[in-house]
Amino acid sequence: MNSEILETPNISKFITLKNASGLLNHEELSIKKIIFDKLYKGGESEAKKTMSSFLNNRGQHYSKEMSSPLSAFSSCSRLSSYITYGNISIKQILREIKNQQKYLRENKIRTGWLKSLSSFSSRLRWHCHFIQKLEMQPDLEFTNMVRSYDLIRNTFNKDSFDRWANGNTGFPMVDACMRSLKANGWINFRMRAMLVSFASYNLWLDWRITSKYLSNYFIDYEPGIHYNQFQMQSGVTGINAIRIYNPIKQQEDHDPNAIFVRKWVPELRNVPLEYIQYPHLLSEKMQIKTGCIIGKNYPEPVVDLKKSTLKAKKEIYKVKGSGEAKNQSKAAYLMHGSRKKSKSLNLFSNR
Ligand SMILES: Cc1cc2nc3c(=O)[nH]c(=O)nc-3n(C[C@H](O)[C@H](O)[C@H](O)COP(=O)(O)OP(=O)(O)OC[C@H]3O[C@@H](n4cnc5c(N)ncnc54)[C@H](O)[C@@H]3O)c2cc1C
Repeated sequence: MNSEILETPNISKFITLKNASGLLNHEELSIKKIIFDKLYKGGESEAKKTMSSFLNNRGQHYSKEMSSPLSAFSSCSRLSSYITYGNISIKQILREIKNQQKYLRENKIRTGWLKSLSSFSSRLRWHCHFIQKLEMQPDLEFTNMVRSYDLIRNTFNKDSFDRWANGNTGFPMVDACMRSLKANGWINFRMRAMLVSFASYNLWLDWRITSKYLSNYFIDYEPGIHYNQFQMQSGVTGINAIRIYNPIKQQEDHDPNAIFVRKWVPELRNVPLEYIQYPHLLSEKMQIKTGCIIGKNYPEPVVDLKKSTLKAKKEIYKVKGSGEAKNQSKAAYLMHGSRKKSKSLNLFSNR
């Protein structure tokens, strides 16, 4: 990362390959064509423009604003798709960060930038770390990192899956995030983690099915990060803390005035703020008044949040505590764990 960036090679003398065989097009690969609301512009110069606007303007409060879907769209770098498609490299970005950090330190500028740049550069390292995991163990796309978890989530509830996949779970924050992601091809880390946690714990769906579904929609789809994150957020790596995100708390913390929820779940437009996390508790009279009839305009919650969370915890900790899972977790740690000084095995969480 610290070595010189190589000059762009002169490609004018390259010749076009004729009759290149074995290359499949997107239809042959069964890749769905999805049109996003916003037109994304690809290419190197767009990538550089995006980096520059983030490092000079948008990123100042990155570390504080990355978790809310209200601020993340502009406060996160939005470089992921450019990195995925090779329009810009991690090395090029790190070089710019270093220059910026030097300037800020020399000029003693303490306006939040240094903290944000430090969080941002950690994430660029994680990017490489996650991809390395998949390179070392390619079957992570298909199998649990700790095989003792193979015995759980072995049934498939199609109704739960469909309601999650279509943003109709009856949990406003989950539904808003899913609908926003499907329209934009992007959502911030915290909300991705919440979507997966809800599917894997509360709906008890297997990450191998949900990860394939979302890979169609992420414009930055990068298998190394994607499958590792799905495994992490589903509690099957053995080397990460079990994290179950409460969608009601996430809504309270990151969309307290329901701006995001009302935008993406317009059925709830007229529901008063005090009911916006629990629209199913509206009285019949209020449902009529607000035009939000539960079961007709907006669904009942697909599960009981408390009961499903407790059940999931019980199941997952039962496996986690077994001798076999402990041994497999140690092996996973030796292969994939960070070699940083951390005393715990709780690596890479950016909650
Ligand atoms: C279930 C799940 C699936 C994900 N799938 C993908 C994926 O397919 N492709 C992808 O690029 N990211 C994925 N992420 C990680 C993260 O959500 C995105 O990288 C981030 O939201 C992209 O937006 P950004 O470029 O504005 O990120 P920033 O916050 O600006 O971060 C800068 C860069 O750092 C890297 N990065 C950020 N967070 C992480 C992380 N937690 N782990 C590894 N690298 C990170 C990415 O390359 C990102 O572009 C996933 C996260 C979860 C929870």
